Amino acid sequence: MICTACSCLCDDIELEDGKILNACERGYKHISEYRQNRAKNSVNGKEVDLDKAIEAAAEILKSASSPVIYGMDTITVEAQKLAIKIAEKLGGYIDDNSSFCLGEFVEAILKKEVPSATLDQVRDYAYVIIYWGTNVYRSLPRHMSKYTYYPRGAKRNRGYDEDRFLVVIDIRKSEIAKLAKKNAKFIKVENDVELVESFLKAVEGKASKYDVGGVIREMKRADFNVVFGGLGLKYGLKGNYGLFFEFIRKMNEITPLYFLPSGFHSNMRGFNETLFEIVGAVNKFSFSEKKSDKAFEFSELLRRNAIDAALIIGTDPVSSLPYDVSRNLMAVKKITIDPKNTLTASISEVSIRSALSGIESGGEMVRSDGVRQKLRPIEKTEYDDVYILKKILEGL
Ligand code: SF4
Repeated sequence: MICTACSCLCDDIELEDGKILNACERGYKHISEYRQNRAKNSVNGKEVDLDKAIEAAAEILKSASSPVIYGMDTITVEAQKLAIKIAEKLGGYIDDNSSFCLGEFVEAILKKEVPSATLDQVRDYAYVIIYWGTNVYRSLPRHMSKYTYYPRGAKRNRGYDEDRFLVVIDIRKSEIAKLAKKNAKFIKVENDVELVESFLKAVEGKASKYDVGGVIREMKRADFNVVFGGLGLKYGLKGNYGLFFEFIRKMNEITPLYFLPSGFHSNMRGFNETLFEIVGAVNKFSFSEKKSDKAFEFSELLRRNAIDAALIIGTDPVSSLPYDVSRNLMAVKKITIDPKNTLTASISEVSIRSALSGIESGGEMVRSDGVRQKLRPIEKTEYDDVYILKKILEGL
């Protein structure tokens, strides 16, 4: 089966005699505990059957004057398409976690502003591997062992200590930074913008604040190098994405350097790609104003009390957003569709229990590098996100 606990979407998980093989600790927990803490179908705290919950959800959305659809990063592409249709039909807002995660990075790749590659190509060809502002040991546990640093690849078959050069850029010595010893470099960054400027200067052979000349020299030795950008890079750039992408493009004038986002949610890229295909934007989109804007980010909508209903799918904003933002949810009519009984589900006017994508329902998800994966569920339930969203759409 394919594990859907993070955007690695590992496709080598085996179930044998009740054992789960090849999964990391997070994946193991995700699969072995999928029956625990399940959501219930309820309306105003009272348990109801699925049809009643769906009916109540459609009523709330129909009578809302400013609804938002939010989340969707852990559901399948098929379900994401239906959620987008609901937002379109309502003339509402639609947003996912990528607006405060790595949406800008995915957008740049989709718009072909930076060259990107697949994780399989990284495994087979990459020499210099840069992790910038991301600790994949915690966020994507098998990233290094399955796709990047450790595995032997078609052209990198002598092992990581000879055939890879690891660069970790972070504000502190994270777990992966501690690996940077032989054939590797750890750069402790205080200012990401200055570090990008240092790289740009070093490309031109000029002196720079950060000592990055050695990294440039290593990259020049190879015909495939990659930089993985995470949340630390996104926030460290303080909006200077253009400067960072210019560095990638400049590097490519002298040696190939590919860029990949290093984000966590299993199908965030799927949502970004699906919305991009339909409206030309990856997130924070208003169907009534027909544009994407910072003001349409879910947290901004809440901050401004700009919404009166929210359809929240497969995410838990009460747990993940700052309290001064999430408390404004109390004034909003909430419908939560989630396999698990999250905090958000527990305070929602309507809670709908869905199937766990990849375990109880099939469909397609998109890995962080854009590779599409067909899920192989171990059991099937009729009442998955696609069924529920189709029924809500029909009820509008
Ligand atoms: S790395 Fe991610 S997808 Fe792979 S087994 Fe672990 S949690 Fe699952």
